[in-house]
Amino acid sequence: MDLSRIAALRATPVPPALHLIDGASCPASDGGTMTARSPIDGSALTTLARGTVADADAAVAAARRAFDDGRWSGLAPAERKRILLRWADLIEARALDLAVLGVRENGTEIAMALKAEPLSAAATIRYYAEALDKITGEIAATPPGTLGLVHREPAGVVAAIVPWNFPLMIGAWKLGPALAAGCSVVLKPAETAALTLLRIAELALEAGLPPGVLNVVTGEGPVVGAALAASMDVDVLVFTGSGATGRKLLEAAARSNLKRVYLELGGKSPNIVFADAPDLDEAAQVSAAGIFRNAGQVCIAGSRLLVERSVHDAFVEKLAAHAAALRVGDPLDPATGAGALNSEAQLARSLGFVDEARAQGRRIVTGGDRILAETGGYYMAPTVVADVRPDDRLAREEVFGPVLAVTPFDTEDEAIALANGTDYGLAAAVWTGNLGRAHRMVRRLRAGLVHVNTYGGSDLTVPLGGVKQSGNGHDKSLHAFDKYLDLKTAWIKL
Ligand code: NAD
Repeated sequence: MDLSRIAALRATPVPPALHLIDGASCPASDGGTMTARSPIDGSALTTLARGTVADADAAVAAARRAFDDGRWSGLAPAERKRILLRWADLIEARALDLAVLGVRENGTEIAMALKAEPLSAAATIRYYAEALDKITGEIAATPPGTLGLVHREPAGVVAAIVPWNFPLMIGAWKLGPALAAGCSVVLKPAETAALTLLRIAELALEAGLPPGVLNVVTGEGPVVGAALAASMDVDVLVFTGSGATGRKLLEAAARSNLKRVYLELGGKSPNIVFADAPDLDEAAQVSAAGIFRNAGQVCIAGSRLLVERSVHDAFVEKLAAHAAALRVGDPLDPATGAGALNSEAQLARSLGFVDEARAQGRRIVTGGDRILAETGGYYMAPTVVADVRPDDRLAREEVFGPVLAVTPFDTEDEAIALANGTDYGLAAAVWTGNLGRAHRMVRRLRAGLVHVNTYGGSDLTVPLGGVKQSGNGHDKSLHAFDKYLDLKTAWIKL
């Protein structure tokens, strides 16, 4: 890939972005727009259509028509596969352009954005495209004279509401299986990360996806997202974002048509280091990456470090050294290790957690402050806070920024009690050379994803989903199809 193109791409003006409804670009019904700001320097990047309830309803109506007339749901599976594979190729061919556009809008470091965004989205779409004609029904073990058939049918109109972090990756985790299953989709990107999703939706049309099958409506969550959640014509609502919004979506579903709601929510994931870890140096380096990449705006970020007391001080020192050495700054520089926070509000929120910890007398081992303010961008030094107590807000609430809370422990039981002692249950990690302990911990940790002697990096073949207040349902793997396919029984007297 020719990275020398980054300089030209970053200087390219971004035209005002419109919705994509029924295969056509269109402004908001009332002509409203909102400014997309670049977290790199705080400058205005372009405008987005500020969607209205009427826009959301129009998109749902287009998706409903497209589903009901079978232009996609009724296509031969091999044909759907061909179109989706072509779409993945188009995304991959434009990977650098998409990655740079995304970084300009959301601040992720380009080295990570390239892998985690367009290339990951293309791989996800390919994975589900390749799987879609391997989905089969069942013949039940019925008595003689009867036949029980179990069909798996596309669930209908899907509304997908996604957050600002990794919009293409998370967007593709929804779009890939939903479209492969034959559903039609209305996608609502985050206010601060919409441009690349709009671009790939245009590429889907170019690949041959019929108009109306994938619609994108931009705008504010409480308007556009809320209208999708309240719609009587959306069959399935899939969401990645905060628990606070998740609650509202469940409520809206209950008040409207009881649509199925799948929530991928936040985490406060414990990263547990035992003194018998095979390589404490590697553990420190990987743990630092596990919290500080994408400036900590990662749902599975290992944001609570629990360290066995006998190695606590030495380990924290090692990890703090990695944090301090991380190059934070211009996310379009390929050498940057961590880019900008997504918005000024997210920067203020992250700093607020540190200020509170400082006021409580917790130890700021490294970082703790805004940096590079002269650029106008939203940068924060990777921050390690030690002596954090289990009841501290920093130990219980998700920061979604580059702030690591460290707490020592003495026994396996204490580690489990600390680890499971929050409302969340998304991810966890255990570092140990003791095989029995590793398996014991995996069983006892209440989390949807448990890493052993690593952090992050799990691929598409395994599911991602939370327990407790981290959500329900799963993205990734073949299990993701369950959200987008309904079971239908045919009971036949022979
Ligand atoms: P958010 O809940 O504020 O916003 C997410 C999406 O919901 C956005 O598109 C937003 O516009 C929309 N929204 C906001 N209010 C709404 C409303 N009232 N009705 C309908 N839609 C509404 O979350 P965020 O701050 O953008 O994202 C960060 C959160 O996402 C963190 O908690 C993070 O952990 C979580 N996340 C989870 C995963 C996962 O896989 N579990 C992955 C990434 C991020």
